Amino acid sequence: MIDRLADKVRAGQRLAGDEALELYRHAPASLLGQLADLVRVRKHPDGVVSYIIDRNVNYTNVCVAKCTFCAFYRPVGSSEGYVLGFDEIFQKIDETMAVGGVQLLLQGGHNPDLPLVWYEDLFRAIKERYPSFKLHALSPPEVIHLSRLSQLSVPDVIARLVNAGLDSIPGGGAEILVDRVRKILHCYGKASADEWLDVMRHAHRAGLRTTATMMYGTVETEEERIEHLLRLRELQDETGGFTAFIAWSYQPDHTELAGSEATGLDYLRTLAIARLVLDNFDNLQASWVTQGGKVGQLSLAYGANDMGSVMIEENVVRAAGASYCMDEVEIVRNIEDAGFLPRRRNMHYEILGGPIFRERDVPRMTELATAREAGDTSVPAELRLYPARSRSGKSERV
Ligand code: SF4
Repeated sequence: MIDRLADKVRAGQRLAGDEALELYRHAPASLLGQLADLVRVRKHPDGVVSYIIDRNVNYTNVCVAKCTFCAFYRPVGSSEGYVLGFDEIFQKIDETMAVGGVQLLLQGGHNPDLPLVWYEDLFRAIKERYPSFKLHALSPPEVIHLSRLSQLSVPDVIARLVNAGLDSIPGGGAEILVDRVRKILHCYGKASADEWLDVMRHAHRAGLRTTATMMYGTVETEEERIEHLLRLRELQDETGGFTAFIAWSYQPDHTELAGSEATGLDYLRTLAIARLVLDNFDNLQASWVTQGGKVGQLSLAYGANDMGSVMIEENVVRAAGASYCMDEVEIVRNIEDAGFLPRRRNMHYEILGGPIFRERDVPRMTELATAREAGDTSVPAELRLYPARSRSGKSERV
């Protein structure tokens, strides 16, 4: 059976769900890796492994969703809650551009005290100051949150955000796209599987490209991991709007759900099966942020063709216990040591050039920055311009 399925992959034929499950459960890891590598070479015969220099900024940690796997959020009114000021975000962009960065990955909690117009003003202000800088912002659950808050439809919210400067949407918040799992993880309320996919459908129809993710290793079964991949493949058949897929393992420290972390081998098998199932995705990222640099490097033999982002700032995964940091020099070293050609790219996977540190002097980032210095509880002055909904937000802005 395994041999027949391996031959099917070698012949370039699409795997059905039960066939993918059979391979995922029973094929040796070395075979899964070989097959995934074969598919990667077919799609990327030039030996290039790409990466992007961008900055992962979390504009607020205040969130009403309260997912049980999340160690990052703080409830409304918490003394540890923060919202970044526009000036703080500009400063982060300046630092990002200094190391050759081209975009912000901007995501945050579902903060009821930030209305849609706050996002529009922020995006416009960024584009006015940095016209060519890209905004890869607001995962589907955040778009749904804004749709509910503003009482506008999802397509209308997307249109307003695009008008203000949104360039593309990150695939966060997908977790596992199966409602049984989402209900247990307390993330069904923020977006059901259909709702998550529907935001992506609308974004693709509006001409935006987006990524897709999977967070595995909580309560889902192997069948449900495969179902997640099949749902992404189906939407990609329909729209073609996904640029890339990224899988990462659940990070249990400091979360309500707790539990243990999936192994590196589980990660490599999951990445490989994703490469085989997602035959209509061009790019798979190595998730070295949760797996570490060495498993990240091994990912390049298990189907990945991209090292994701240089890590300048990280708040979410770090809150749950992982804190791997690689600047461009480290990423390039890992790519070259594995025998590939490192190339800088943008969100559309267009190649921008070789390593920037070989073209000019850039500061080395050997430590991860955070959204805010510890203990900084300052409230940005411009927040007073926006109406708050929560009692604590209202009293703060008087
Ligand atoms: S994962 Fe996102 S939506 Fe869920 S609690 Fe954390 S910040 Fe909120």
